[in-house]
Amino acid sequence: MLTIDGSFGEGGGQIVRSSLALALVTGRPVVIDNIRARRQKPGLRQQHLTAVRAAAEVGQAEVLGAKTGSSRLDFRPARVVPGAYRFDVGTAGSTTLVLQTVLPALLVATGESTIDLQGGTHNPFAPPFDFLAEAYLPLVNRLGPQVTARLDRPGFYPVGGGRFRVHVRPQPQLGWLELTERGALKRRRVTALVARLARHIGERECRTIAELTAWDEREMEVVEIDDSPGPGNAVLIELEFEHITEVFVGFGQRGVRAETVAQRAAQAALDYLDAGVPVGEHLADQLLLPLAIAAHLGTGGGVFRTTHLSLHSTTHIGLLEKFMELAIATERLGENDYLVRVDRGRG
Ligand code: AMP
Repeated sequence: MLTIDGSFGEGGGQIVRSSLALALVTGRPVVIDNIRARRQKPGLRQQHLTAVRAAAEVGQAEVLGAKTGSSRLDFRPARVVPGAYRFDVGTAGSTTLVLQTVLPALLVATGESTIDLQGGTHNPFAPPFDFLAEAYLPLVNRLGPQVTARLDRPGFYPVGGGRFRVHVRPQPQLGWLELTERGALKRRRVTALVARLARHIGERECRTIAELTAWDEREMEVVEIDDSPGPGNAVLIELEFEHITEVFVGFGQRGVRAETVAQRAAQAALDYLDAGVPVGEHLADQLLLPLAIAAHLGTGGGVFRTTHLSLHSTTHIGLLEKFMELAIATERLGENDYLVRVDRGRG
């Protein structure tokens, strides 16, 4: 039985979610110990539990320890069953992270799947829906599968209640992704989402970004949302290049000025533009999983250049190497320029 120490490296929810994803893909049972041991509220939270239940359903798994606060999980998958699924986090917990737990297995499954998710779609410390749809999934699709995502309505912390639907046409032989250059910039777009809050929040965010970047205000838009169950605000910066789209986000928060929210998002986008490489920090840690599965299957893998190897990325690499036969090499090419190569292992 493979035992994963949930407190190693970054020691967060990613270890849990990716362990579940890998257990499903490889068919290997896994025990995860010391789950989120160093977090303020250790153990499994609602969002992780939804991911556990989702993985158990998709993989017809036997599970022990799936309770709030649990620090140990025993997960034994039987077989991955594609089909129609509906997962509700029940709180504003991140739905995109729940999706990323079951998606890898469904990418290489024997048939198509439809997944309906409900909960938070724009959460701090998680990929916003737009990042999933515009940045992550197009790269996953370049490995062979066809995954589409449609936002029904956004959900923000603390009320949640957002919804989106994903359709997966699998490709059991995941291919190779080469992403060392981003190519020419094709389009920039700034979108300030404002749900049940004053429109001027979004207008101030757009104005701040226009001032900091000198981009044209015509590239910016305030979108007022009236069908989200709760209030919320996020400002999204989408940068579309020939070979990749990256998405940066700032989340509105009580007590934080709209100008500050926008300034954070703008700074992340400007740093990325300066670095000149295709893959940003968050995309890097998330991309490792599908590339590693492609390498493990012996049909693909990939190479990419990224700005930064975060603790999430290095922890993910350690986890992937524990589960599967593969080789992940990283090399620093310069300041804010790292090369990552995910290849099949020797042996
Ligand atoms: P964890 O903290 O272990 O629950 O993992 C959080 C995951 O969310 C990681 O894969 C991060 O890369 C991802 N993430 C956090 N913030 C963002 C963001 N602003 N955009 C995209 N992904 C994010």
